[in-house]
Amino acid sequence: MTRNCGFNTLLLHGKGTGGFAEREILPPVSQGTAFQYESMEDLESVFAHRKTGFAYTRIGNPTIAAFEQKINALEGGFGAICTGSGMAAVSGALLTVCQSGDEIIAGSGMYGGTIRLLRNFERLGIRTVFTPKLNAENVSALINERTRVVFGELIGNPSLNVLDVPAVSAVAHEHGVPLFVDSTTATPYIARPLELGADVVIHSTSKYINGTGSAIGGMIIDGGRFNWKAEKHGALADFVQYGRMAFSVRARTEICSNLGGCISPFNAFISHVGVDTLGLRMERICENAAALAERLDKEKDISVNYLTLKHHPDHEYVTGELNGYGGGILTIRAGSKERAFEIINSLKYVKIASNLGDVRTLVIHPASTLYRHNSRHEAEAAGVYEDTIRISVGIENKEDLIEDFLEAIAKSRHEQ
Ligand SMILES: *Cc1c(COP(=O)(O)O)cnc(C)c1O
Repeated sequence: MTRNCGFNTLLLHGKGTGGFAEREILPPVSQGTAFQYESMEDLESVFAHRKTGFAYTRIGNPTIAAFEQKINALEGGFGAICTGSGMAAVSGALLTVCQSGDEIIAGSGMYGGTIRLLRNFERLGIRTVFTPKLNAENVSALINERTRVVFGELIGNPSLNVLDVPAVSAVAHEHGVPLFVDSTTATPYIARPLELGADVVIHSTSKYINGTGSAIGGMIIDGGRFNWKAEKHGALADFVQYGRMAFSVRARTEICSNLGGCISPFNAFISHVGVDTLGLRMERICENAAALAERLDKEKDISVNYLTLKHHPDHEYVTGELNGYGGGILTIRAGSKERAFEIINSLKYVKIASNLGDVRTLVIHPASTLYRHNSRHEAEAAGVYEDTIRISVGIENKEDLIEDFLEAIAKSRHEQ
């Protein structure tokens, strides 16, 4: 398989595909909790890492490993660790490199659950400094001797701020600090953060990777290039002996397995099946989202936030880092919470649901749901106002989507 192959060809036939025990095209679903060995010596050598093998599904499992290898290949990583959810991936990745007394620098325009997790970490003595815009200038002003990681979302959910990975990683690296990127909303179809300079990539596979809204899951992908030093990352002191593998070894053998948030093999299997159509889905989703955003932008009493629109503050990244795409999420502001609810309630096809990255278009009023337990300041910093509607665009026929939204918007005018 040449490197010049297109995304879909590599996805279906490249690294991380095939090679399963019974010549199956898809990995068998190994639901078993444990794996039996011929002798106690055999099992001992697996535990001692002298021999490769599976012992217990929370620590490793062939179906989960197949999914890890597939996503690792898509991101161009050195190794991947699958977790039970996106939040388990975020918490596992950060706790692998942070301990009490350490600091994280993060963008404010992040997923609400992540912001709340970072607040929870404060009780463990891990402090997060938030910046409204995670750019090179702000990171270099905030970074200090306690900073252990810079963390941001490639395309903020739902702020739609774009993280300038080459510039931010360069500043972080000057200070011996890695850049971790949550790339859930971008997906490897739009961008591969490791190639742009990131050190670790995180996904909620529940979203675009699974693509059908059928399984919760998460993934941590290590680029394997960061030079970990015990003096800087005390949390990794016992692991720097593994060199560039230090992060992966601690995340897999210690933090993720001990925190216990493993995925079920069945969920790994469904997500593995789902990712095969990632390229096709993303192409259609991005085309639909751009068409919907452009059409809604013509409505005078609706303001639209979407990356391909020329008035979007981060529009310049579309032709650069985002390879021409704007992603599958847009937000619109309706003027008031009441009107936002009216529009949502009048939609015919579009479903009201707390998820994104599904093949079906989904809408939600984030202020009253996803950001309900965040402060107003946190919500607004993430682009969530009282009148904001988040739209996760699906693969429907775009004419139908546009018509559905235009009718709902028109109806809300009569009701005003
Ligand atoms: C959904 C989401 C998460 C959390 O993932 P779960 O699978 O729901 O735990 C983290 N980051 C981003 C950007 C998300 O959209």
